[in-house]
Amino acid sequence: MVQDKVALVTGASRGIGRSISLALAAQGAKIVAVDVDSQATEDFVAELKASGSEAVAVQGNVTLATDVEHMVQVAKETFGRIDILVNNAGITRDALLLRMKDEDWDAVLDVNLKGAFLCTRAVSKLMTKQRSGRIVNIASVVGQMGNAGQANYCASKAGLMGLTRSNARELAKRNITVNAVAPGFIATAMTEALSEEKRQELAAQIPLARLGSAEDIANAVVFLASENTGYITGQVIGVNGGMYM
Ligand code: NAP
Repeated sequence: MVQDKVALVTGASRGIGRSISLALAAQGAKIVAVDVDSQATEDFVAELKASGSEAVAVQGNVTLATDVEHMVQVAKETFGRIDILVNNAGITRDALLLRMKDEDWDAVLDVNLKGAFLCTRAVSKLMTKQRSGRIVNIASVVGQMGNAGQANYCASKAGLMGLTRSNARELAKRNITVNAVAPGFIATAMTEALSEEKRQELAAQIPLARLGSAEDIANAVVFLASENTGYITGQVIGVNGGMYM
């Protein structure tokens, strides 16, 4: 149900963004892969093309409006349209509140929240003309629950859920849906770095008793990006093994 759709994915070349791009491409979508690291993006796009998908790499920083305009321009020039936007690029700069530096706060809010705003503003201009579109924001369970040591990250993800609902209301009349996927603890490079003990401690908080996979998140994104889920908007789908209900 995403066959021949054009999907722009930010933070596409590794982790969850990579799985989302692979899953969309496997269902026949054309991928505009955006990342700050141009080599990683080029390599990933070469991989997608080698497996028969259509894709283009764009080096860009989601916090810069000029880069974001460039991403949209490349998508338009290459594929003529954008049907799906996945705001996935995200960073952490963890510290306890009293030790959190101003620049840690600003950096996280800039990428995770302002980046999604800039991408949505630029892409929705095109989607509005097309009178159709799917926007999926990658939030986090900690934006719902809070987490000690992550005030900046949790605030950015809670903000992203507010942005999701607001944009969903504003863009609905143009047949554009806006939803969020809120992952729980996902096994990525970040969590692989943790000790086995810490991983077990995390798993113990999860009713389904395991960390999620990037594919678990990708499946939810493909669902929300599909043509036949057009009556779902403004929702946050938790993909968290039951951690937060
Ligand atoms: P990741 O492996 O660190 O990947 C993040 C990607 O975003 C990287 O490719 C990174 O590029 C890119 N990126 C960072 N800043 C950017 C910017 N300013 N402009 C464009 N791209 C940028 O992270 P992940 O674990 O896959 O997380 C993906 C999303 O899921 C994030 O929004 C994260 O908050 C969310 N999430 C993750 C988990 C988890 O357990 N992993 C849980 C809940 C939510 P570089 O490689 O060049 O840095």
